[in-house]
Amino acid sequence: MTHRHFGLASGTNLRCRGWRQEGLLRLLENVLSVAEDPDNLVVYAALGKAARDWPAHDAIVRALTTMDEDETLIVQSGKPIGLVKTHSRAPIVVMANCNMVGQWARAEEFYRLEKQGLICWGGLTAGDWQYIGSQGVIQGTYEIFRRIADRHFDGTLAGRLILTSGLGGMGGAQPLAGRLAGAVILCVEIDPARIARRIDSGYLQHRAETLDDALALAAAAQARGQACSIGLPGNAADIFPQILARGIVPDIVTDQTSAHDLVHGYIPAGLTLAQARTLRDSDPDRLAALSLASIARHVRAMLDFRAAGAVVFDNGNLIRTQAQKAGIEDAFDIPIFTEAYLRPLFARAIGPFRWIALSNDPGDIRRIDDYLLETFTDDPSVVNWITLARDHIPVEGLPARIAWLGHQARTTVGLAVNRMVRQGTLSGPVAFTRDHLDAGAMAHPNIMTENMRDGSDAIADWPLLCAMLACSSQADLVAIHSGGGGYAGYMTSAGVTLIADGSVEADERLRLALTNDTSLGVMRYADAGYDAARDEAARQGIRHLDLRQGG
Ligand code: NAD
Repeated sequence: MTHRHFGLASGTNLRCRGWRQEGLLRLLENVLSVAEDPDNLVVYAALGKAARDWPAHDAIVRALTTMDEDETLIVQSGKPIGLVKTHSRAPIVVMANCNMVGQWARAEEFYRLEKQGLICWGGLTAGDWQYIGSQGVIQGTYEIFRRIADRHFDGTLAGRLILTSGLGGMGGAQPLAGRLAGAVILCVEIDPARIARRIDSGYLQHRAETLDDALALAAAAQARGQACSIGLPGNAADIFPQILARGIVPDIVTDQTSAHDLVHGYIPAGLTLAQARTLRDSDPDRLAALSLASIARHVRAMLDFRAAGAVVFDNGNLIRTQAQKAGIEDAFDIPIFTEAYLRPLFARAIGPFRWIALSNDPGDIRRIDDYLLETFTDDPSVVNWITLARDHIPVEGLPARIAWLGHQARTTVGLAVNRMVRQGTLSGPVAFTRDHLDAGAMAHPNIMTENMRDGSDAIADWPLLCAMLACSSQADLVAIHSGGGGYAGYMTSAGVTLIADGSVEADERLRLALTNDTSLGVMRYADAGYDAARDEAARQGIRHLDLRQGG
């Protein structure tokens, strides 16, 4: 295989005919620069790809560098299909990734089509070039830990132990999130290279060689009440039961292995990494069966920790869904993080909003941090997060920041930053985006929309509406993704990206797209019967037609 150089452009020299195209090109380069396996275009989550294959990638780059602002590039599952003449207010790129017709939306069918080169999975933020490294999920994980602290531990995690596994692209955020929340966090990871990578990037502090060492290090830090993160090489399906057998019950237990993928993600107990990789090609069915059996043990241990008093939650990797397939009937006694901790935020459309300094100048992120600290003085959660983030979150790829912001707050920041670009306060344009795991943007009955109040968990109209609305609101890139864990009918979601290039036209794009995105989010939860959403709609002047009140 040819190894490529995954560099990043800096400064303001354009290779494209405008900043909207250039910004998207830099985001594509960025996801590859921070990817887990860039040579294979895999950004994160085992198989989440930035483009279908290298010829498709190169054709996307050629299209972005030669297209005009009044054209739109069509991308289907990571492959560019064509350019059409639209107008300068239309998206630069529209995408549909991994959407399969319901009846056929199964893992086996996905793998078959993927092997034929007809489809690829874009993850949530990989295929539409929005991934910003492990930071992308860190505040979400931190907010979960903070809420657990408030609900179960008198507001502090000092001296508390979190046990988890998986230090991949997203799971790699866990050690830093746990440490920022004040806890001791032990992360079991089968691949020593991932442990090394997280230590190098500053997300993880220590590597322990044995379970004894790890537990001793954790106990010492707990006794001092000192936050600490520890990586332990090993298989979670072995190590979790061993910890149980020693009578140790962590305060919090979760997991972020790639359990959604039984072939390319989860590594079954009893196999080395190399053996699992060989089986992937020689006997994927056997590997999937071994993974399922291993996940059953892994989740049984999580349930036993729960019975022994630990706070246990699923962190969005479908491990309960897989365990149930493997016969663990009570797997869903473990709650999903969204419903358990974050739904009150999503009901108000507060979610993972991000911005990325396209000039590659970390100073731009610092200047935007300053702006947030000066502007959101009456919002302690924003001030607390930005203060922590600016001191503790390392730069990976293009400098970026995540902050959970809601309706109007996102628009306010977007417009202020665009003004700062225009005035030359920043070194260059800034991209705005968000996770697909956002109020109006995702239907995922085992993650985002589990147990919705009105039972609308599996209805995928919302993300489709979200994407159409983003197109009508002049977003620069709009994507509809399906697949998710299990790669078939598990979820549908929508992604949106905007380039704040300092222009007056960008003011309009940002105002419309950011405001309408969160408007739909609030409406989605108001429609499902959440009072917090109805109140937010009334407070913010969002014109939700509430039929229960005569709409
Ligand atoms: P990844 O593939 O980059 O990393 C997974 C890690 O798990 C790898 O490092 C792998 O070596 C390790 N692993 C696999 N099996 C193991 C085992 N049995 N024991 C110990 N370690 C094992 O994936 P990622 O990007 O980190 O995502 C992890 C999971 O989280 C995925 O299922 C993904 O879909 C999900 N996810 C959740 C959220 C969220 O918002 N909560 C966001 C993104 C991703």
